[in-house]
Amino acid sequence: MAAAGFGVPGTVVDGRLHAAHIPWVLDSGSLASHLQLPRERIVLMNDLVATARGLRHLAPKDFLCLNRGVDHSEENIAVIAAGTGLGEAVLYWDGRGHRAAPSEGGSADFAPRSDQEIAFLTFLKKRLPRISCEELFSGRGFRPIHEFLGPDIHHDSFSKAAGESAQEITQNALNGSCPICVETLDFWTDAFGSEAGNLALRVLAYGGVYLAGGIAVKILPLLEKSNFCRSFADKGQLSAILHRGGSKRRGSAARRCQRGHGCHPLRRLNSSLF
Ligand SMILES: [Zn+2]
Repeated sequence: MAAAGFGVPGTVVDGRLHAAHIPWVLDSGSLASHLQLPRERIVLMNDLVATARGLRHLAPKDFLCLNRGVDHSEENIAVIAAGTGLGEAVLYWDGRGHRAAPSEGGSADFAPRSDQEIAFLTFLKKRLPRISCEELFSGRGFRPIHEFLGPDIHHDSFSKAAGESAQEITQNALNGSCPICVETLDFWTDAFGSEAGNLALRVLAYGGVYLAGGIAVKILPLLEKSNFCRSFADKGQLSAILHRGGSKRRGSAARRCQRGHGCHPLRRLNSSLF
């Protein structure tokens, strides 16, 4: 082994991982010692940065377009990934190429828009001292939404940790066996689209927004027919900029959904979503 690199969930500072969801202590010095490699041959990197850097190595067939706009190859690109947590990153254009930068945007405050989302925030605020985006847009976000929408319905997984309910709620929503599970996914995709739009505005992602992470792939049939793209572009005076992504003018955004490893080939959608 000549070198080793690791994409890890959390913030890497001075070669040391600061992670919120895993108990591991990772630092490049101890890894170098264990692997008997020079420290300069060890790279610890935020997992979303690793994902962003990997985009260029994927083939066109590995992507699904949720909204096709005009390619602006010399513009910033945003990446957002919901899974165990919520990861965000940006590929910023430096004038000659794209450079990946990490973000802890998943820990930013959740911003509700509708009366229902405000009521949900109030509901969740009774349980948690602070509601970050990640509390919703991760696997553990599904169950509190379900409990908010249908407090009298309890599924088997509800006796386990919150993240353990994501699979059951997703399956019930996909097969339509529980109307509250269907409603939960509608609520989630709607709000998640808004958060993706927030990220696009913050980094001016005219080069596109990519969805990664395990959840997007697992709920793909629901995502395709959801309000995700509508919520993404619902940004008041700036909506026109995001809308133009679908009309082949400057401002392409919300374009692609990254395919996860091992899933079936994704279909390309037409561009009539907006
Ligand atoms: Zn249900």
